[in-house]
Amino acid sequence: MSGQFNGKTALVTGGASGIGKAVALQLAVEGADVVVLDLREDTAQTVVDEITAAGGSARAVAADVSKPDQLKAAVDAAVEAFGALHLAFNNAGIGGPQGLLADYDDGDDFAAYRALMGINLDSVYYGMRYEIPAIVAAGGGAIVNTSSVLGLVAEPTAVPYTTAKHGVAGMTKAAGAGYAAQGVRINSVHPGYIETPLLAALPKEAYDALAAKHPAGRLGTAEEVANLVLFLLSDKASFVNGAQFTVDGGYTAV
Ligand code: NAD
Repeated sequence: MSGQFNGKTALVTGGASGIGKAVALQLAVEGADVVVLDLREDTAQTVVDEITAAGGSARAVAADVSKPDQLKAAVDAAVEAFGALHLAFNNAGIGGPQGLLADYDDGDDFAAYRALMGINLDSVYYGMRYEIPAIVAAGGGAIVNTSSVLGLVAEPTAVPYTTAKHGVAGMTKAAGAGYAAQGVRINSVHPGYIETPLLAALPKEAYDALAAKHPAGRLGTAEEVANLVLFLLSDKASFVNGAQFTVDGGYTAV
């Protein structure tokens, strides 16, 4: 495949499904060598097979993004497989426990809060911790981190998720400003509610209520998020750094 990412290697976390899968597929179409990271090698391999069947180049890596040693190994594997790392999309994440803050108990609910922080926030820290030196060594590149509209405004009954996603925005600003002079651009995307397996289990009433929160009157698609991510990873965004971008059908505008 040939395109705007020819000769570039990209790491995509949570690449086996939803938004991560859409970004992995689009990057491959545009010529990148893509490392598809997910919890299970077989599901990541399914996306790799789709990419290679279409003439692209990709490798599957199994890793838990809440474990720093596994992210380090994934970055090392990307460099070993393709010679360098230029681009990263830190995207793996999960939904979280529901309830107003003081409703959470100190046992299972707090454990779920800590687990969500590990997967949705610490993972972005660990990812950038290992990706940035590799990208600097490659001569520069770009990182996009997946936050959410709930990284900009709150959902009162999604306290851990809202907290983690605001953390992703703050970490992105600090890292983007910190590495701009070394040629690494780092931005965050803030999707509204998107049609992915994360929301597939919702009852119809809850789904319709979510759609109604968007002035567009519908949920977004993973491809619509991927379009923004690819722009931010591309040289067309060469003066864009440390910034937050919504793709939310107007959710945060009202
Ligand atoms: P998804 O469930 O379709 O995909 C998430 C992928 O991440 C899955 O393949 C899963 O296996 C992987 N994953 C989960 N935990 C992991 C871990 N510890 N290590 C490695 N991989 C792990 O979900 P999605 O909707 O594509 O979500 C992707 C990101 O977008 C998440 O960070 C999510 O919070 C965010 N987001 C989603 C929505 C939405 O409405 N779907 C909205 C805003 C933000």
